[in-house]
Amino acid sequence: MRVTLMGSGDAVGVPAPLCGCEYCVESERRRRPAVLVEVDDRTVVLDIGPDIARQLDEMDVYDVDGFFATHAHFDNYWGINELGQAAMKRAGHGREEFDSAASDPEFTVYGSRPVRTFTEDTFPYVLDYLDYEPVDPGEAVRADDVRIRAFAVDHGTTAFPTQGYAVSAGERTVVYAPDVDGPGEIPDYCVDADLLFFDGSVLDEERRGDRDATELREFARRFEADRIVATNVSEHGLGRHTDSIGEGTAFEIWSDFDSVSL
Ligand SMILES: [Zn+2]
Ligand SMILES: [Zn+2]
Repeated sequence: MRVTLMGSGDAVGVPAPLCGCEYCVESERRRRPAVLVEVDDRTVVLDIGPDIARQLDEMDVYDVDGFFATHAHFDNYWGINELGQAAMKRAGHGREEFDSAASDPEFTVYGSRPVRTFTEDTFPYVLDYLDYEPVDPGEAVRADDVRIRAFAVDHGTTAFPTQGYAVSAGERTVVYAPDVDGPGEIPDYCVDADLLFFDGSVLDEERRGDRDATELREFARRFEADRIVATNVSEHGLGRHTDSIGEGTAFEIWSDFDSVSL
């Protein structure tokens, strides 16, 4: 299993829009959240942010079996429009050259029923072309030896119910817990993973406002993963330079496209 963090940034990424602050200027570029999991010839992508097309292009990935949506916030989901374009071309609505085998995307989007409803209300046109299969917390999708199971995540908003995913193949498991605003149940299949991606905004005491960042970092540890890697990292948002982020915590700070073989 090869796991690549294609987007380590937060909702706006780094640099932040129109920002020339010292943190944006001196930091590396961070794209919106996305994780690529490759197992033999199966390819799975977690989160569908607005950078998704460029991220996959950077990885030379043109064949994805499934995209898994965590929730419908802009930075995690609105790349669905890009996928809609790809699917539309597949359906023959593009120019002739799009019909070539090299540009024949065949994929399924998975996500909760509430995200499907959001899509029907907001981007109904993409559902004319995309295959969207509902998968809610506790449910699983299997492709050959790869199993993807959804679990509920407390993102502090009923408007955007949120779920993470555990991706397993053989003895290996990677868990993706996106925007986390409160501790919750950790299903058995998320415990003791090789790798956990967890909302890195819990590294900031002030930004969490009324939420308890210490409690959320403790929640991350309760997954008992071998390694914890931060998502939603922003030097701009934290007002800190890269070296000091994550200091004194169990969290690793990766760059975009850092990867590990499990
Ligand atoms: Zn800035
Ligand atoms: Zn969110």
